[in-house]
Formats: sequence, structure tokens, C-alpha cells
Amino acid sequence: MNNPYQLFIDGVWRDGSDGTRVPVINPATEEAFAEVCWGTPEDANLALDAAERALSGEWSTWSPTRRGRFLFAVAASVRRNAAKLAVLFSQEHGKPPHQAAGELEDAARYLEYFGGLADKLSGLTIDLGRGQLDYVLREPLGVTVHIAPWNYPLDIFCRSVAPALAAGNTCVVKPAEEISLVTLALTRLFQEEGIPAGVLNVIPGSGSVLGPVLTEDPRVRGIVFTGSVVTGRKVLQSAARNITPVVSMELGGKAASLVFVKDASELDGPAGGAAGAMAWNAGQSCGQRSRWYVRRDLYEPFIEKVIERVRGLRVGPFTEPGVQLGPLVSKKHYDNVMNYIRIGIEEGARLIAGGGRPEGVGDKGYFVAPTVFADCNNRMRIVREEIFGPVITIIPVDSLDEALALANDNMFGLSSEIWTSDITIAHSVAAKLDVGHVTINGSAAFGFEVPFGGVKQSGLGREGGPEAILAYTRLKNVWINLK
Ligand code: NDP
Repeated sequence: MNNPYQLFIDGVWRDGSDGTRVPVINPATEEAFAEVCWGTPEDANLALDAAERALSGEWSTWSPTRRGRFLFAVAASVRRNAAKLAVLFSQEHGKPPHQAAGELEDAARYLEYFGGLADKLSGLTIDLGRGQLDYVLREPLGVTVHIAPWNYPLDIFCRSVAPALAAGNTCVVKPAEEISLVTLALTRLFQEEGIPAGVLNVIPGSGSVLGPVLTEDPRVRGIVFTGSVVTGRKVLQSAARNITPVVSMELGGKAASLVFVKDASELDGPAGGAAGAMAWNAGQSCGQRSRWYVRRDLYEPFIEKVIERVRGLRVGPFTEPGVQLGPLVSKKHYDNVMNYIRIGIEEGARLIAGGGRPEGVGDKGYFVAPTVFADCNNRMRIVREEIFGPVITIIPVDSLDEALALANDNMFGLSSEIWTSDITIAHSVAAKLDVGHVTINGSAAFGFEVPFGGVKQSGLGREGGPEAILAYTRLKNVWINLK
């Protein structure tokens, strides 16, 4: 294949230093449709050199206002190019077009949101009394490294690169193996809008090879990682080597949804949410509502409604109109999810929908039918572990206290939700859920304007919201003894 997608280092597109090219597979057809160059440790070092040099180059002369306007310009370019990018995105990832388009819009909004904050950073002065003057400068961290997963590549790229650039840092980004093309296509828009050389560098390649190089280097002054708990632990160990600040670690989740509506007439919302938890991104979301704790009197009616919704879900390749659920991202991940379905059956959960390949998609593509297990309990692996696919579990409960205890009984603490029209229940549950983000009466509501991040093994730090940009800065105190 000609014209492979290349690395972007120091403002230049180039092959990796050892010439490795890797085919990119369309997960709906299992066919290679492009190639991407992979970087080596040598390339990672070149990128870090470039990012460090750029800190004192032209970039340092850009005012905060100019940095903000630049991010606005890139956002506008994302929108102008959205139709073309969405096709590439669907081809590489499998997302149906409306979901690809939605993520592109989110990416643009992250750029605008943090672009708008670029000129609102400030330090302070501290009153020490007569004879002294003290002021505090807010400075960029310096070189920041961003390691991303494959599930929301554009969203996750923009939610950390945008605040990092707005605050005046430089960035080296390592996208996930499975999905680098759309990240590189987005990077081209930054180049077209005139980002100075070295300010943004993107190196596709293997995380186990590039990750340690990028996270153990003493030049790096901020690490942003999104991915699994297992890799997150490795990154924290690497960061410990040079006491490198970890801006945020956004790790896994196993969100609970508590269904406590008044009666069965109010089940349309939660049943729609359950179907959406399987359809949206094919369930490959850290915030996926995968554990449904349902009050016992609502349990069977809820199951019936969920089955009805699941039957209406359209599974298929992005090229078919009206598709709501695409394939999983890779063969490796497909095998993993199928294995969890086997585990659920062996654990004795009641399979009430799906459980394998959907009908009508042929034998190509990593498609998994929306799968619902009922009669589950918290001892089951399918309830405890992150499956990251179109699979949900349903568990009957006798009281709100029991639902809360079960919801909190998990190593993750990213997000959870409750469905209720009782305002007292809503607020008291929000206070007691041991997570970073609660949604009331709606599924997985996240946004660039609000802080997002987890507790427990879901990670540390917050992305989004006005405070997020502060994590990309450091404070310097200046104490003056007046003569
Ligand atoms: P991984 O942890 O496998 O990979 C994440 C990134 O880390 C990839 O770019 C990977 O590279 C890289 N990596 C691999 N090894 C190392 C290493 N030793 N040092 C540094 N980086 C390394 O996660 P997945 O890509 O499988 O993503 C799924 C996980 O991400 C789920 O647990 C999900 O919940 C979580 N996630 C969390 C989000 C949040 O906001 N909380 C959002 C999205 C996902 P390579 O691709 O080459 O393996």
C-alpha cells in the first residue's frame, strides 16, 4: 500500500527510524485498508528533543490569547473536515457514522472550551506586610506526554492536548495501536493551522516499547494516561523514577445503574439507557452502565422492556444506513468479550439476549450481539470485571441500601447513576455512591464543562471543567525583600 500514515515529529511527517509499517484493519470487514508507520525508541527521543526545544522557541512568544485563538481555529477546521474524518474514523474504529460525528463534535468543543480558558489563567500576590512583596506565577509544566486508548481517540486526545497547549506546554502523543490514523488526520489540522514545529508530536507504535521511553524520561514534566489499570500501574512506576507529575490517570470503570423509579410505567428511560449502554461505542466505554441493580418489584418488567429494546437495535457495518451498533475494535478484543460471555454462562447467569455473533452480519467482522445476563450477583466475574463490550448484567435488589452497598462493592469508582423521581433519594444516593461522577435520570452524561475522573482504581486527577487546565501548570513563588 502506498502513502502510509507517518509520524509527526518536529513539524515534519516521517517514517519511523526502522521503517516498520503496520496494516490497519477495518473491524467490520477484517480487511487492511491502509498502513501506518510505527515509531521506535529513537523516534520517541527525537520527539522529546523537539518538544523540549519548542518550549523556548516561537511557541514561547505566543500570548495566551493567541494560543486560545489557535485552538478555536483548529476546532473550526475539525468541523469543516468532519464529514471526511468521520468516514476514516468509522472505517478504522467501526463506530456508526452518527457516533463518529458525535465524537468529532466533542473534540471540537474540547478545543474551544480550553481555547477559551487560555487567557484566563493567572497567578496571585500574597500580603507579607511592609518590606516584602510576594507574587506567585502560574507557568506551564513543560513537555507533556499523552498516552491514549483506542475507544474514544479524538475525544481523549483533545481533552488533554487542548488544555496542555492552552496553558503553554508542548506535547508528545502516543495513540493506541488499534487506532492511529484518525489521530494523525486530526494532527494534520493542527499543522495546517500553523502550530510551531515541535509543539505537538504524534508517534504511533507499540505502547510496551514507546511507553517506558516516554514516561521514564527526565525531560517529561507531565504525564496524562488513559487506559487500563494494569498499564496505569506501569506508568505510575515509570513516573516514580524521576518524580514526574502525573496530571491524570483515567483508568477503567464498571458503572452501576440503580433502577428505583416509582412503578413499571416509568421504565422506558432506564430500559432505553440499558440498550444504549450496549449500542453506544459497542459498549467500549469506561462509563458504560454494565451493572443494573433493579428494585425487585420492577425486575421482571424491566427485563421485558430491555429485551424489547435490544430486539430493535440494528447491528452492522457503518456503511449500512441506520446502524446503531458496530463491530468491536479488534480481533483480540472480540475474543476477549466472547470469552466473558462464555464465563457468564458458566457462572450460571441467565442469558436473556444475545450471547454470540448477531444474525445477518455474515462471518466477517468483529460483531457481537447485544448481550444481557439476568439473575446475576456480585460474586460473578461478569459483574466484577470490566468487559468493555455490548454486554450488561441485571441484578435484583430488595432495598436502596442493598443496591448502594452492591454498587460500591467494586474496585472501580468512575461513574454510576440512579433512576428515580424522588428528589430525596436522588441526592442521598448521589452523596453515597463512591465514584467520581453521578448521573441522575439519564445515562452516562459527561461533558467538557464538568470535571470527569474516578476514585479507587479508576484513577486520579480530573479532565474537563475549569480546574482541569490548572493541572497543566505549576506554581512558582517569587519573594522580594524590598530595600
Ligand atoms: P491499555 O492500557 O491496554 O492501553 C492504553 C495505552 O497505553 C495504549 O496506547 C497502549 O499502547 C499504551 N501502553 C501499553 N503499554 C504501555 C506501557 N508499558 N507504558 C505506557 N503506555 C503503554 O488500554 P486499552 O487501550 O485497552 O483501553 C481500554 C482501557 O482504557 C479500559 O480499561 C478503559 O476503561 C480505559 N479507559 C478509560 C477512560 C477514562 O476516561 N477513565 C476512557 C477510555 C478508556 P498499545 O496500544 O500499543 O498497547
